[in-house]
Amino acid sequence: MSTQHSTDTWINGAEDRLCGFLANLIRFDTSNPPGRNYGPCAEYLAAKLRSLGFDTVIHQVPEAVLAPTVPNAATHPRFTVVGRWDVGAPKTVHFNAHYDVVPTGPGWTSPPFSPEIRKGWLYGRGANDMKGSIASLCTAVEAVQTVGLKPKMNVEIAFVPDEESNSLLGTGYLVEQKWHRADYAVVCEGGFGDMIGCGHNGVIWMEVTVKGKSAHASRPHLGVNAFEMAAALCQELGKYKTRIRRHVFTAPGGEKMRPPLTLGGEVRGNDGAKINTIPDEFTFTIDRRVLPDETVAQVEKELRATLREACKKIPGLKIEVRKISSRKASLVKESDPLPREFLKTVRHYRKRAGFGMTSGFTDMAFYANEARLPCVGYGVEGKNTHGIDECVKVADLVKVAKIYARFLTTAGL
Ligand SMILES: [Zn+2]
Repeated sequence: MSTQHSTDTWINGAEDRLCGFLANLIRFDTSNPPGRNYGPCAEYLAAKLRSLGFDTVIHQVPEAVLAPTVPNAATHPRFTVVGRWDVGAPKTVHFNAHYDVVPTGPGWTSPPFSPEIRKGWLYGRGANDMKGSIASLCTAVEAVQTVGLKPKMNVEIAFVPDEESNSLLGTGYLVEQKWHRADYAVVCEGGFGDMIGCGHNGVIWMEVTVKGKSAHASRPHLGVNAFEMAAALCQELGKYKTRIRRHVFTAPGGEKMRPPLTLGGEVRGNDGAKINTIPDEFTFTIDRRVLPDETVAQVEKELRATLREACKKIPGLKIEVRKISSRKASLVKESDPLPREFLKTVRHYRKRAGFGMTSGFTDMAFYANEARLPCVGYGVEGKNTHGIDECVKVADLVKVAKIYARFLTTAGL
């Protein structure tokens, strides 16, 4: 029987292999929206898992389920790959990683889907979020198998689409359909470096449409300017923003978190919008993060009440409010066996490792809230996520592969 040390040694020698696999993944432009090349990428990932001896299924979300939310559903199918390595252990650990990426804009030093390594960093869209973690995970499994060690738990891996939209056709659908069969979940993002993710904020997205009355810009008194009304409304929402900043939640690891509020992430007029016309409609979005000690229902009520109050204060203000979507926050107790074991593993490589939570949301919510599984979030560390020149540190890809391999072979929960 090989020693633990040997997975580290094997992974040290597998850096080029790991980077090559990651580069192949990045070459699939899986931009979402619209959900490009999901089929070929899912096939490639399934082939990888099969080559590692995993019992692998590619699940396709039925077209009828896609139709209400996905334009061109017939040409943009959604696939989730689930692979299982049964070692006969009583418990199963499930790993989750998404293979979709956010679309790119101009300004990249090298083309975003033609990966390149420069000064120890691998560049490409998805390098950090989160194809890098997929590559580290597959390398970890390969290391464990090659050196002849046996995982302490059965290993299940899910590669999902659509995390960059709202996950409902990715991890949300996987959990709803119970395509997983596990006792613990590790989401391969939501923690990195010295921070092991034990939770994340929830979110509520709303859209407010302010109604006005159009008129010629030379005779504005005949109209009601929806844009100016929206500006007045945003002043009122600014007071709400100040008020909620007084709410403090202490995250695992001690960070003080306050609920962030973003107004106008998306804004638009209607088709009649024109420079010399008084706008009769103006729409803006609200992104309100929900802390683990708040509920989505309570926050929604609070937001709607604030909007109603504003309507009373601002003469003539007429609005329509639409809830777009929401997601619950999630929080795992630091004292639970999974976080404890995971921390022990990470500390083997990173002495200062501890728990924390992310302000953004991850697919952990579905495992923690819907599937009711203990879970942690941990993956690779990179830069410029969702931005220009997204990249991941090659040394970190290697280290995270070692962490996953060690966790697989030492953590018997
Ligand atoms: Zn991600």
